[in-house]
Amino acid sequence: MELRLYDTLTKDKRVFTPIDPSDVRMYVCGPTVYDFAHIGNARPVIVFDVLFRLLRHLYGADHVTYVRNITDVDDKINDRAARDFPGLPLNEAIRKVTEATASQFQADVTALGCLSPTHQPRATEFVLPRPDGRADMVTLIKQLIARGHAYEAGGEVLFDVQSMPDYGVLSGRRLEEQKAGARIAVDAHKKNPADFVLWKLSSENEPGWDSPWGRGRPGWHIECSAMSAAYLGDVFDIHGGGLDLIFPHHENEIAQSRCAHGTHAMANYWMHNGFLQVEGEKMSKSLGNFFTINELLTTEKFGGRKWSGEALRLAMLKTHYRSPIDWTVQGLQDAEKMLDRWYDVVGDAPASEVSADVLDALGDDMNMPKVIAELHRQSPESLKASANLLGLLTQTGAQWRANQTQDRSVDEGAVEALIRARTEARARKDFKESDRIRDELAAMGVVLKDGKGADGKPVTTWEIAR
Ligand code: AMP
Ligand code: ZN
Repeated sequence: MELRLYDTLTKDKRVFTPIDPSDVRMYVCGPTVYDFAHIGNARPVIVFDVLFRLLRHLYGADHVTYVRNITDVDDKINDRAARDFPGLPLNEAIRKVTEATASQFQADVTALGCLSPTHQPRATEFVLPRPDGRADMVTLIKQLIARGHAYEAGGEVLFDVQSMPDYGVLSGRRLEEQKAGARIAVDAHKKNPADFVLWKLSSENEPGWDSPWGRGRPGWHIECSAMSAAYLGDVFDIHGGGLDLIFPHHENEIAQSRCAHGTHAMANYWMHNGFLQVEGEKMSKSLGNFFTINELLTTEKFGGRKWSGEALRLAMLKTHYRSPIDWTVQGLQDAEKMLDRWYDVVGDAPASEVSADVLDALGDDMNMPKVIAELHRQSPESLKASANLLGLLTQTGAQWRANQTQDRSVDEGAVEALIRARTEARARKDFKESDRIRDELAAMGVVLKDGKGADGKPVTTWEIAR
């Protein structure tokens, strides 16, 4: 089977040829650990987990190295630490925030069926030169200065974008011409407004490391250049993330890594997942449609009920990874029904070989809609093997059904209250309202049965949909 991947840099789908088939190397930008991960953050984690699994299948589980970093130095983290632990010294408060958030993230993505990457480096461990000699940020910045790609100004070390003739090649953004007098005051120390921070000085109550440029902290982009080089070398196979990272983050990673190492590429394939929105709108806290992975798994905030990790995973994978995805209650219900059906088909069958048709569809730039169509055509044994490759149908049917009954449990008081309101609406012949309430209950997974009691009056009973 042939694997072809879409490369954002060259804008084409190409046959994937690893630099070294005995060590296929992939880097994906991970979370900034200051708060619970939201369901949009889950998308790159799930998408690249499927690619990781596919690469392991093709090249052997011991021949793939997958690195996903943890960003544990960031001004958002400092703010959160000061807010949540005002009594503690900042360093301690930061450690509390990042440790709790990182372990929550790990628990969330494990519940979504994702394997742990081979390495999950934390940025703070790669700021200064390391005893083990792996790449670090300070050494990279020194190299950039030595090669004439970076300069110190105004308490910062900046990358000099004009020192790189093809800066902007990933995002297709050309360097803006410098217009005299057009610079805003805050940028006055920059040679070019597009120059970006590699290092900035820290005030006394900000986290900092002693460096040749004073006590300070790294810019965001340099973290990934250091941690990818630390585990994957100067040039590696695949670099991934959400498409919001193309500019400036990945553009600047490329600039730093290529200029520091004197290479023509940082990674040979640049892959980006599309964005997730919720019920047709951009997800945002102010719109009240912001959901964390944890809320979907453990609370009744979305659609009035909890959802299983497996249903969330399939709902995410039904859409092609490069397309935008609309996250809806309906989409989750559809995914759940599909899993119900597949668990019924598989029964107690053992897994056989992964279907060649499923592999072909996956190999075509992970064409998941096609993969799902192929899954519907498989025998029980092949369905189990093929779905397992995607991290799906990993439970027994009995486990799935037992967990589903729990997940579908709803707030009984709320259901009873809605049913009373519906009975009243029906009594006053407001059928529009009674239908609306029935639909609302259906969205919560509750099915109604209307009958008559012994006294001849209408009685409505309910059950959780299967
Ligand atoms: P952040 O913590 O914002 O840096 O995001 C971590 C990862 O999640 C990055 O790969 C982002 O591209 C991705 N991401 C953030 N929001 C969304 C979204 N709404 N849809 C898809 N991916 C997202
Ligand atoms: Zn990154």
